[in-house]
Amino acid sequence: KIYKQPSTDMLVEGVRSGDRAMIGRAITLIESRSRKHQEKAHELLDRLLPFSGHAHRVGISGVPGVGKSTFIESLGLMLVEKGQRVAVLAVDPSSGRTGGSILGDKTRMEQLSSHDQAFIRPSPSSGVLGGVARATRETIVILEAAGYDTVLVETVGTGQSETMVSDMVDFFLVLMLPGAGDELQGIKKGILELADMIAVNKADVFEKKLKQAMREYKSALHIMTDASPNWHPPVMPVSGLTGQGLDDLWSKIELHRRLMTESGEWDERRTNQRLTWLKSQIADRLLDDFYHSETIAAALSETQNKVVAGHTTVSRAVADLMKLYHQ
Ligand code: GDP
Repeated sequence: KIYKQPSTDMLVEGVRSGDRAMIGRAITLIESRSRKHQEKAHELLDRLLPFSGHAHRVGISGVPGVGKSTFIESLGLMLVEKGQRVAVLAVDPSSGRTGGSILGDKTRMEQLSSHDQAFIRPSPSSGVLGGVARATRETIVILEAAGYDTVLVETVGTGQSETMVSDMVDFFLVLMLPGAGDELQGIKKGILELADMIAVNKADVFEKKLKQAMREYKSALHIMTDASPNWHPPVMPVSGLTGQGLDDLWSKIELHRRLMTESGEWDERRTNQRLTWLKSQIADRLLDDFYHSETIAAALSETQNKVVAGHTTVSRAVADLMKLYHQ
């Protein structure tokens, strides 16, 4: 595969003009873990950053089979019909590590992916959560500079990836199913704390159970302390398959945006997210430097052996390694 890397100028111009091939190459560049590529990626992001920030960022989560891809395809098509440009990103930490991925890719959302106002990108397969988080946040910058109005970030219903995605979006939507009566068993308290809305999906087939499920989700949310004084997470019935409820759902998400903007919480949330991002990047970078340090690499296996054999305590071992690292 011999092809020339486009220059940073070409990438900036391509992204800004909404050229999907160039957007794809820009994302591939920032996903790369090679230090040489990362230098170039930094430059690209610096130049695109002034054009970012304008999209509505919405996270969508739910366990496999809840209907996420069907829902996102319907919602995405509805939004492009309204004249929006829509991007969909997936965050799947399992992707690439085991060869399999929970979200799967390629064949999903066929109609939406062939729409020229839409852009769909499968999860970066970096294998480490921090790497996936970084690539996803930076991809949002690229997509915003490319003029996408809405960025939907899909993730699987596992605690860590949900927390990570909720930390990079303006609105976090959780899809649930009306189950066999004991909905609450499946709800972890953690996910309720993150949710800005619960959408009870497949409303087309669960008519009877639907009401019961909605009542239970509502009362579960009721006893939680709201994250915002201006927003209580609603519970809404939808069907990704028939499109039922999607209009109402999107109106509510827009209402949230309006209320948060008016109260100043919109900017506050984004500011906090940026600070959290800075902290986690510092932590990642320090860890990376530590393990790439030659003195550490030389000393690490002996230290490990000592710890395993019980010849030194972990805290003594760490103190010694840190001394070496700072020499
Ligand atoms: P994901 O794993 O969360 O992405 O779920 P999918 O979108 O792949 O859907 C899982 C299964 O549920 C598929 O067989 C879908 O056809 C079906 N499904 C998805 N949404 C709905 C819905 O709103 N109503 C009904 N009846 N079935 C649905």
